Amino acid sequence: MTWDFETDLETQVELDWIEQFVREEVEPLEHVLGSPWNIHDPLFKQLVKPLQAQVKARKLWACHLGPELGGSGYGQVRLALINEILGRALFGPVVFGCQAPDSGNSEILAHYGTPEQKRRYLQPLLAGDIVSCFAMTEPQGGADPSVITTEAVRDGDGWLLSGEKWFASNARYAAFYIVMAITDKRVSVHEGTSMFIIAADAPGVRIIRNVGIADDPAATHAYLSFDKVRVSARDLLGEPGQAFAVAQVRLGGGRVHHAMRVIGQAQKALDCLCERALSRTTQGSRLADKQMVQEKIADSWIELEQFRLLVMRTAWRIDHYQDYRRVRKDIAAVKVAMPKVLHDIAARALQVHGSLGVSEEMPFVGHIVRSFQMGLADGPTEVHKITVAKQLLRDYEACDALFPSYHRPTAAARAQEKYAPALASLQALEA
Ligand SMILES: Cc1cc2nc3c(=O)[nH]c(=O)nc-3n(C[C@H](O)[C@H](O)[C@H](O)COP(=O)(O)OP(=O)(O)OC[C@H]3O[C@@H](n4cnc5c(N)ncnc54)[C@H](O)[C@@H]3O)c2cc1C
Repeated sequence: MTWDFETDLETQVELDWIEQFVREEVEPLEHVLGSPWNIHDPLFKQLVKPLQAQVKARKLWACHLGPELGGSGYGQVRLALINEILGRALFGPVVFGCQAPDSGNSEILAHYGTPEQKRRYLQPLLAGDIVSCFAMTEPQGGADPSVITTEAVRDGDGWLLSGEKWFASNARYAAFYIVMAITDKRVSVHEGTSMFIIAADAPGVRIIRNVGIADDPAATHAYLSFDKVRVSARDLLGEPGQAFAVAQVRLGGGRVHHAMRVIGQAQKALDCLCERALSRTTQGSRLADKQMVQEKIADSWIELEQFRLLVMRTAWRIDHYQDYRRVRKDIAAVKVAMPKVLHDIAARALQVHGSLGVSEEMPFVGHIVRSFQMGLADGPTEVHKITVAKQLLRDYEACDALFPSYHRPTAAARAQEKYAPALASLQALEA
């Protein structure tokens, strides 16, 4: 038997250090700083850079990457244990060098980048000297990638790229964008789309406007315009026509890493819920003694533990198979479960905090808005539910082919058939 729910001592020592460091040094930052991606802010440099130096010295920087890229080469299970602590704090990922979309962008640059692209973009990105942006979604629809219209048209030995992108996170702070564009209209969008690296200050690149998130104006997601931006073969990331394969490398891991961090956010909401229940007295008893509050606590813990086990098992399967395609259903299931778990636990914590719960002094409104973001970014929940169902049905279909008669007769009919001789001999005896 190899089922094991224990953390080894060496890892636990590291996790204990991370937990204390995040609670004491990182969590307070969100109350005094703006966007975690605004590395140009002088206060960011003053407060965040020394913390990043401590993390680097402890060899915990960019844990999602292998040692050859300056990371620790931890597997996904260990990464999950770290990420669920970092998720408690908005600045957790940026202090530990694993914030989206830079983490995913560094993965695809490491995977597909040329030596020159790695020197120019990957190295400063890994050092935390720049941040980046990933621009795939277009204004006419993100859930359906086949409606993509941004196009790179051949011009001499390069291309002229034109089109618009929507909700490109952190474009205003980014040094470069990774942009998806059609390069061959004669074939399907999945075969005729390529990925380009474009410097943010390249001629023809314009931010039409920066869109904030309802409760968090510091968050910025850009509406971008590209007007005949010149790109050369040096700017191509991967082979022509390979954009969806490139994107998949970043999206598979990215969705699971978001889920790991959501565990931390939901845990923080649950911690607050329990502290409030124990510390508030009303109508003669503590909130903790009222059954309707106890139900909220019990439901929250059970939902969080279920979700955490699903995330940990998915992380284990990624480590085990080393092939995201074999873990598609698990990743899609985690993506579907994540917004609901965060929403429901944060909503209960908010309610039990009364007026304080809706205030900007507590994290719950942020958690709830973020739960909706988690149900949209990297594809809406509905689309991932379809993936889960299709993958499941495919397994059942395969099973049906192997055992053609297995599903058709009901269990009762099969039992009747199996025990027919025994029943017949019993009836004969009785007669
Ligand atoms: C916080 C945040 C950050 C983001 N960052 C980036 C980024 O950095 N780069 C980037 O390229 N994109 C980014 N996005 C965009 C994201 O990928 C898209 O929002 C997502 O793919 C959905 O596209 P859409 O917003 O155009 O919604 P639409 O495609 O218009 O879909 C709207 C709704 O329609 C329903 N729907 C869609 N398809 C189906 C279906 N098949 N069956 C049933 N119902 C369906 C769902 O309810 C869905 O939410 C970000 C989004 C958010 C919220």
